[in-house]
Amino acid sequence: MKPVNIMPCNKGCGRKIYFDPSKRSVNDRPIPIDAVTHQPHQCKFEGVDKLKNEVEALKIRLADMETLVNSLHIKERLEVLEKRTEKLDN
Ligand SMILES: [Zn+2]
Repeated sequence: MKPVNIMPCNKGCGRKIYFDPSKRSVNDRPIPIDAVTHQPHQCKFEGVDKLKNEVEALKIRLADMETLVNSLHIKERLEVLEKRTEKLDN
């Protein structure tokens, strides 16, 4: 049996994995095998990068919305002030 190259999962989940050339996914890509269980590695970090990007995008949207909400408050306050000054003028 050929020695296998055991390496830590590159997604940072902390599991040790190796690639078995005889085990390939449906699209013929080598699939990572868990070095401990020898089962295909189902990475819990799979998709985490994508999620991080989505979270970052949401944070930016949230910041935009906060800015909008703050500017609305300012507008409302200005309207109140305008009404008061109108009363003072009359
Ligand atoms: Zn992993």
